[in-house]
Amino acid sequence: MTESPFIADTSLQYVWDSTSLGLLKTCPRKYYYTLIEGWVKKEKSVHLDFGGFYASALENYHKKIFAGLSHEDALDDTISQTLIASANFSPDNETYKTRENLIRSIIWYLEEFGPNDPATTVIIDGRPAVELTFKFDTDIPALNGMNFVLSGHLDRLVEFCGSTYVMDQKTTKMSLGAHYFKMYSPDNQMSLYSLASRIVFNTPVSGVIIDAAQILVGSTRFARGFALRSEAELDEWLADTEVWLDRAKNYAEEEKWPMNDTACGNYGGCAFRDVCSKSPQVRHVYLASEFEKKHWNPLEIR
Ligand code: SF4
Repeated sequence: MTESPFIADTSLQYVWDSTSLGLLKTCPRKYYYTLIEGWVKKEKSVHLDFGGFYASALENYHKKIFAGLSHEDALDDTISQTLIASANFSPDNETYKTRENLIRSIIWYLEEFGPNDPATTVIIDGRPAVELTFKFDTDIPALNGMNFVLSGHLDRLVEFCGSTYVMDQKTTKMSLGAHYFKMYSPDNQMSLYSLASRIVFNTPVSGVIIDAAQILVGSTRFARGFALRSEAELDEWLADTEVWLDRAKNYAEEEKWPMNDTACGNYGGCAFRDVCSKSPQVRHVYLASEFEKKHWNPLEIR
């Protein structure tokens, strides 16, 4: 069983990943519903599963290439493994993130970038830097003598045009213009990934390369963008994180997770909008009917 990210007998999370930290920053109530109560909108798991299968397939491909397989053999093996892993993936009412589109997107991405990609995998201690799980002590005190820890998972470290980057894969329905890549600077996840590379893997990076796949009905488009980070930006991000974690400590001590009602968004915004718009006495009835319990744990290996 995976270890809990919470300090025993408290609501204080001490191991944080970019997902949980992002939720806290967005809206403490959203964080509470997701991390502490464990609610996930039923259809939300489709996007998580699709993105997970896609990222795992690309990581597997790069490991096979490193092991000496040709592009064709590595691709064949990767697709066979993904077909097995995704055998039960058949989302209802979903026209974009289907199993068929998943397999097609993996093949098309690897045909386009696999053998000819100018971004090459970094080698650390003789092994390819793919599927890198990280966890590091921040030296920021949490409770009972424990410090806050930051954790996560990097898809890959690559060399590109003489610099080192984290490579991150995204799947989206959004169109992939300049506005799409602008979303990642500033961005909580990309800053944490860049910082982790510096601290845990002792590999200072220039930032993150985002390889995005726009999933369409019957087609997939790919585009590559950059989220650059300087050392000063990363230091600032870590200092700001201390302020956020201190807030989390106060919320947990007071058992109060305020609503940030400027972060709800319009239709397609926060999944909890239909919950928060109800009277507090009936919210749990709605949660139980429209959501399912699927606790997010930053310590779980995905
Ligand atoms: S609907 Fe608004 S207030 Fe409610 S959890 Fe989402 S962001 Fe927070």
